[in-house]
Amino acid sequence: MSVSLVLLNDTLRLHDNPLLNACAGPKVAVVVLNKAAFFGRQYGLARANLQRLQQQLALIAELKTALAEQQIGLITLFGDTASCITQLAQRINATRLYCAEPVAPHERTALQQLATRFSVTQLDCNSLLGGALRPQLSSLPHSFTPFRKQLEPLLMVSEPVTPLPNAGDWLSPIAAELYNSEFAALQQQYQAQQPDAAAGEQAALARLEYFIWQGRHILHYKDSRNQLSGSDYASFCSAPLASGGLSVRWLWQQIVQFETQVAANESTYWLKFELLWREFFRWQFRKHGARWFSKGAIKGRLDFSAPTLNSAQQAAFNRWCNAETSMAFIDANMRLLNQSGLMSNRGRQNVASYLVHDLGIDWRMGAAYFEQRLLDYDCASNWGNWAYIAGTGNSSERQFNVQKQAQHYDPDGAFVRQMLTVQQP
Ligand SMILES: Cc1cc2nc3c(=O)[nH]c(=O)nc-3n(C[C@H](O)[C@H](O)[C@H](O)COP(=O)(O)OP(=O)(O)OC[C@H]3O[C@@H](n4cnc5c(N)ncnc54)[C@H](O)[C@@H]3O)c2cc1C
Repeated sequence: MSVSLVLLNDTLRLHDNPLLNACAGPKVAVVVLNKAAFFGRQYGLARANLQRLQQQLALIAELKTALAEQQIGLITLFGDTASCITQLAQRINATRLYCAEPVAPHERTALQQLATRFSVTQLDCNSLLGGALRPQLSSLPHSFTPFRKQLEPLLMVSEPVTPLPNAGDWLSPIAAELYNSEFAALQQQYQAQQPDAAAGEQAALARLEYFIWQGRHILHYKDSRNQLSGSDYASFCSAPLASGGLSVRWLWQQIVQFETQVAANESTYWLKFELLWREFFRWQFRKHGARWFSKGAIKGRLDFSAPTLNSAQQAAFNRWCNAETSMAFIDANMRLLNQSGLMSNRGRQNVASYLVHDLGIDWRMGAAYFEQRLLDYDCASNWGNWAYIAGTGNSSERQFNVQKQAQHYDPDGAFVRQMLTVQQP
């Protein structure tokens, strides 16, 4: 019987992971750390920083440990996804590949290459809309409100699956180690943190248990979500959703259960509303693909040439990146990003608007810098939101009056003081 490869790149989790029971017979679990995504460059910027690389290594290590406890081995590879999978398949005589249906154009391209050689089965593991609700890309509404109004009334999110992997069918942890040497060296070189990364499965499940059930912070989410810093004003589930450590369907069902068993209010609804924004951008990416990286994104004529910055713009861009614009509200948010790898949604909207509309810099430079820094980097949410603010995506341009926003959202300047006067270690 031929062997199946089960690629877990976008589903670094055991809960609600349909790939773990997608196929019968002998199978091999594999993850590829894509070299270009973590070591490549775009527009003169590194695509990922050390923090993001270390997080990814820690997430993979956590999954490997969790699978090993079920007697399932994980082959971890490093390089170009399509080449790594092709070489592995030749070594172990695999002819079939199972994987999550991707959203990012470079992942879709890799799968198209692989589909010419293997039987590839893609399961949409990370979307809310599946099965009969899967949107038709040709008639996908262009803006969020019609998208939400069309699909929200129909939304019946499928129950999370409970995987019952039969360990006997999987390559064992000991056998998997024979293939892992290059990856182990990478881990050693970049000193991955201990496998308890905030974006990992265990931390994500614990966080939501606290945010939704114990702390009941979901009950004030709509009022608190515009805060700029803190620990309970929002869900902080973006990083595990982006890495695939958390299932969005599982999260949705948790909210629905809370609404049924404890209380439903505008805030519990609003968390679902925000998850629909995530969903919206995912389908927009599937529809328009690589167009999103064109200068005019989905609106203008195709122009994939790199942004050009004159020397004044380059200096202004560097100051923006380094939190040295002398606009305190912008600098405070950028410092938070540079230190923690995260920023509130309110902060992101403001620094993006400032870069694009006040400094007049090509929106793709900002999106590329966020890609490098964000620990919750998600291709569709990042590039889609940047284009949204620039006016090249699913909206007309959105310009924020940064002074007014600062007065409104940081009226006593506490956030700015916290970020700009406290000397961080
Ligand atoms: C310029 C810009 C870039 C962004 N880049 C990213 C990115 O790379 N990755 C990312 O996950 N989000 C991105 N966002 C969206 C949003 O800012 C983050 O999802 C949110 O701040 C994460 O914090 P949270 O998990 O506590 O969110 P919560 O407020 O608790 O929201 C719950 C979830 O809803 C989803 N969500 C909320 N707002 C949005 C939104 N505007 N667009 C898409 N999904 C949303 C996220 O999955 C989020 O985790 C970006 C927004 C802007 C304006």
